[in-house]
Amino acid sequence: MRMGIIRDVLIESLSGEHINVLDRLGGPKYDEDVAAELKLKATIVRTLLNDLHENSLVEYERTKDKRTGWYTYLWVRRDGKIREYVQNYLKTQLLELNSQLDDETKHVTFKCDCMRVPYGAAMEASFLCPSCGKEFVECDNSQYIDEIVSEVARLNSLLAQI
Ligand SMILES: [Zn+2]
Repeated sequence: MRMGIIRDVLIESLSGEHINVLDRLGGPKYDEDVAAELKLKATIVRTLLNDLHENSLVEYERTKDKRTGWYTYLWVRRDGKIREYVQNYLKTQLLELNSQLDDETKHVTFKCDCMRVPYGAAMEASFLCPSCGKEFVECDNSQYIDEIVSEVARLNSLLAQI
């Protein structure tokens, strides 16, 4: 497992702030303590923790303070889930890109000064853009195809390395 690549993909899929929170959770910690360490508001840290929890990257233990009646949450990182999350993220991105690639190779698109639309939409507008008023002309998709192909190669190479 290559930690550098895993971190890069985590940052790409979530954000640097999420990773800063994950970094603090090698052992169980209260959200207020993480907030203090990162000099962030506790509400912000809780939002970040909830995002991480939705993706199964952290878990918590909830206890009720008998005196105040409030709940406190003790959070910890789920190290065993991180690689799986990164793999799933890359696989989902690849699926989406491959379907885009399929679209770009099979379908003709049209372009004006402000947007690119499928053939059907251009035809419906009688090949005149309702926004900029320019004519829709057939677009060369090869530039988009090249971009998708190189992104697919990049993600496949990341996937192979983790
Ligand atoms: Zn336009």
